[in-house]
Amino acid sequence: MDRSRPHWSYSAISQYLRCPLQYFFQRILGLPSRSIGLGLVLGSAVHAGLAEYHRRLMDQSAIDSEAILKAFHESWGEKEANETIQFRDGDTRDDGIAQGIHLLEIYLKEPPPQGIIAVEQRSLVPLYNSQGEYLETPLVAITDLLTETEGELTVREFKTSGRAYSASDVESSLQPTCYTHAIRETLGRDANVEYTVLVKTKTPKIQRIQTSRYGDDCGRLGDLVQSIQRAVDLGIFYPVESPMNCSTCPYRQQCREWGQRSNPPDKLSEHDQKPADRFVTCCNSCTSCPSL
Ligand code: SF4
Repeated sequence: MDRSRPHWSYSAISQYLRCPLQYFFQRILGLPSRSIGLGLVLGSAVHAGLAEYHRRLMDQSAIDSEAILKAFHESWGEKEANETIQFRDGDTRDDGIAQGIHLLEIYLKEPPPQGIIAVEQRSLVPLYNSQGEYLETPLVAITDLLTETEGELTVREFKTSGRAYSASDVESSLQPTCYTHAIRETLGRDANVEYTVLVKTKTPKIQRIQTSRYGDDCGRLGDLVQSIQRAVDLGIFYPVESPMNCSTCPYRQQCREWGQRSNPPDKLSEHDQKPADRFVTCCNSCTSCPSL
């Protein structure tokens, strides 16, 4: 698979929807990100440990907790070597590592997933809009785990989170749509999506929550990506400031310096600028949307 080929991904789509200016700094200018939030480091390390565990289950090889911990620590060390970890008030490195290992331990005590078909599988698939027209740029989707039991395919997505997910968190997310679309395009079948949330509360727990997407959702995903692509082509990038977006953003300095010079209006032709609402994209705040 050609990894250099331009492509969309869930993280690119959601980053543009969250803050187009952050997207611009990272994906258009290619500015290096020299800092990373503790939550992302912990999440990546837990994912690495889970992938090691699931591969061993799939290969029917011995479950080696040392190897799982090694994968966890290697991921943590790699992030630490390349970026500065941002700690929020009261957080420490040791607490983060202990918390990640504890989450892995409680997951390993759960009944293991059955019928594993693939672990961390990367697919490059075409996108199409609601009119059935194919988009130029394809989608890359990496599924944490794909299982099949009793003839049913399930994409299993793993999250570490400071709180339990609500039903609307998964119903309104584009991530299950990306996965469902990728499975439909590669295997020609529908798949359910199950989130396994490793909840980092004082007493950590595991939450499972299911969701489904259908053909209409895949067409709507294509419509959305098509709109974002137009906006990107026209150089529409602006800051969306919020505590959630900005507190761990690695581009805060560049953002403060951002102005018209970094987003020149002469990039837009008169025709391109009208009507402006052609380029308005969904803000992904679906639970409070009056247009629902
Ligand atoms: S600091 Fe906030 S508004 Fe600025 S680029 Fe980062 S996320 Fe966007």
